[in-house]
Amino acid sequence: MTDTITIALSKGRIFKETVPLLKAAGIVPLDDPETSRKLILDTTRDDIKLVIIRATDVPTYVEYGAADLGVVGKDVLMEHGGEGLYEMLDLKIACCKLMTAGIEGRELPKGELKVATKFVNCARRYFAEQGRQIEVIKLYGSMELAPIVGLADCIVDLVDTGNTLIANGLIPQEHIADISSRMVVNKASMKMKHASLKHILDKVSEAVNRS
Ligand code: AMP
Repeated sequence: MTDTITIALSKGRIFKETVPLLKAAGIVPLDDPETSRKLILDTTRDDIKLVIIRATDVPTYVEYGAADLGVVGKDVLMEHGGEGLYEMLDLKIACCKLMTAGIEGRELPKGELKVATKFVNCARRYFAEQGRQIEVIKLYGSMELAPIVGLADCIVDLVDTGNTLIANGLIPQEHIADISSRMVVNKASMKMKHASLKHILDKVSEAVNRS
C-alpha cells in the first residue's frame, strides 16, 4: 500500500519557488493557489496533496502531523521553536537576513532598549545572548515606522535588499541570522512513511544542488 503524503505550503514566494523543486520529485500541483480558493490541492501524484496555509502555521501543521512535510522560512521556525519537527533540507530559496535596524546616525540608549518586532522570541534570545536588557514591543507589520515615531529605539526585521529600511531613513545594524526556506518533516511520519518521504527529500535535495 502506498503512503499518502500531505505537504504544507504558504502562498506567494515560497509556493512559486518550491514548485520547481517539487516537480523534480514528480509532484506538480493541479491548481494555482493564486487563482483557486481551494485550501487542499491535488497533484499529479494520487498519493500526494498540498495544503495551502499561512506561513506561520506551517510548523504547527507539521508538528501535529496534520501535514507530513512542510516548507517554511527559517525565521518562522526560529520564532516557533523547532522541537516538534525535523528540519531536513535548506531549500536555499527566499533568502534574506534577520537584522536589527535603527535610525541612521542616532546612537542607541545605554540602558534598556525598546525593540519593535514581530519576531518576539528571536529578539529576546538575541539580546539576552548579548547581555542587553530590552523591552519588546510586538507589532504585526510596518516595523520601520516604530523608531521614526518614537515607539522604539530599534527594530528586528527581515532585510533583503535593504531598500525598505533606506526608504524610511533606517539602516541595517546587527546581523542576527541568515534566513532561507527549509523543508521540515513530522517526526512520526519520518518513521512510519520513511521510504516515501526519503524519496521526495532525495529528489528535492538533488534539485536544490543543481540550481
Ligand atoms: P528589502 O526592502 O528588499 O530589504 O525587503 C524588506 C521587506 O521585505 C521587509 O518588510 C521584509 O519583511 C520583507 N522580506 C524580505 N525578504 C523576505 C523573505 N525572504 N521572506 C519574507 N519577507 C521578506
